[in-house]
Amino acid sequence: MREETFSDDDVAESDLVTRRGTFRAVAFRADGHEHMALVHGRTAMREDVLVRVHSECMTGDIFGAMRCECGDQLDAALDRIVAEGSGILVYLRGHEGRGIGLVAKVRTHVLQDEQGMDTLDSATTLGLPVDIRDYSPAARILKHLRVGSVRLMSNNPDKIEALERNGIAVSARVPHLARPNPHNIGYLTAKRDRLGHDLPQVDVFTSADQPTDLPTAR
Ligand SMILES: [Zn+2]
Repeated sequence: MREETFSDDDVAESDLVTRRGTFRAVAFRADGHEHMALVHGRTAMREDVLVRVHSECMTGDIFGAMRCECGDQLDAALDRIVAEGSGILVYLRGHEGRGIGLVAKVRTHVLQDEQGMDTLDSATTLGLPVDIRDYSPAARILKHLRVGSVRLMSNNPDKIEALERNGIAVSARVPHLARPNPHNIGYLTAKRDRLGHDLPQVDVFTSADQPTDLPTAR
């Protein structure tokens, strides 16, 4: 069993002023990785706290890659938290490529680009698992932050199940839909059809004459 609490040696926090507003930045060491929670407004001992548990994606989050929706989801989550006046974004490291790592993720991109494989087949062809992300650090972080219950911004039922299994009460799932583009529509379709993510905007994008009418998370 992993320990449930963090020792003082493994936590540090400060204010962090960003373009969107001021957050409390809380850094954690857990299981060989360093994670961060951005806390906006009052969230401790509150119920129904708006939360995003975000898996790191260097290509999407930092470089704005369009082959996935990670960067859009990160931006939208922070926008939504600030718009509501409170909430938490938990940024989980060690989650590149659903846990296979950055080098392996880029190898899957080669197979996707050169052989037309989807995000799942490109991993399994390389002998890699489809999703080995561990959400228990996020649960530990949310417990450390003394959150009562969370409204989770996610399209992934597995993520809710994982948080609940690790002792976090999820009072609602808030759809977190990014606008598809021609570079990620195949990726989103595979996530919907093969990983069970709830992504209604995929149909809207592929059938609508006016994609500007897409539902978005904002
Ligand atoms: Zn990504």
